[in-house]
Amino acid sequence: MRILVTNDDGIHAPGLVHLARAMATLGEVIVIAPERQQSAAGHGITLHKPLRMSAAEIDAPVAEAWATNGTPADCTVLAAADDRPRPDLVVAGINAGANLGEEVLYSGTASAAMEGALQGLKAFAISVTAYEQCLFEPAAEFAAKLARRLAESDMPPDTFLNVNVPNVCAEELRPAVLSRLGRRKYVNSLERRLDPRGRSYYWFTGEPLESDCDEGTDIGAVKAGNISVTPVHFDMNFRGRRGEIEQLLDGIVE
Ligand code: MN
Repeated sequence: MRILVTNDDGIHAPGLVHLARAMATLGEVIVIAPERQQSAAGHGITLHKPLRMSAAEIDAPVAEAWATNGTPADCTVLAAADDRPRPDLVVAGINAGANLGEEVLYSGTASAAMEGALQGLKAFAISVTAYEQCLFEPAAEFAAKLARRLAESDMPPDTFLNVNVPNVCAEELRPAVLSRLGRRKYVNSLERRLDPRGRSYYWFTGEPLESDCDEGTDIGAVKAGNISVTPVHFDMNFRGRRGEIEQLLDGIVE
């Protein structure tokens, strides 16, 4: 099995090393990661500058390791470029910080996995629910278990798994559960300040406001101490009442 390991926290992130080591127990690992922090880069693809890859050192027994000036989604695209054999599995993480609810829209980690799914590859993203003092070992162990299962099975098309692991030691971790995306909206997200020359600038400082976080959601699952596994599909079609939209656009659309 050939496994692409990527992330959005960058080639020097400790979570990447933990993931690469776990995946190296299962097959041939190629690491392609952004050369610097790309969290919240979303699904951007680089069109207007050259994409570069430079050989990188990583403390894991991998076949290849590369740092790129591209985005996390670029990393997935690059994995099959230059006549490289396509990976059988794309694994993104281990991200420092949860990716729950609508965060999957902004997350570079989730987007790297989504890009894999769009290319017809099996893929998952994995995150721990803390930014500091991350306990990556239990997440790495779960990643290996999941990768082993995916190696033997097919995934539904255009779908990836978004995994969130509570940042607790293995003994405190509760079992993995299947969940759906909850809602985790950021409020008061921009703070306005003045620079030394009196001009305004803005800095993202938002606090998440969780509005759909019951038992069946990813948010509820990690709150209860469970590993959350959410199947995510790119289809963002409106699921509400079509009649409401027809009424809204009456005379404008046929
Ligand atoms: Mn990140």
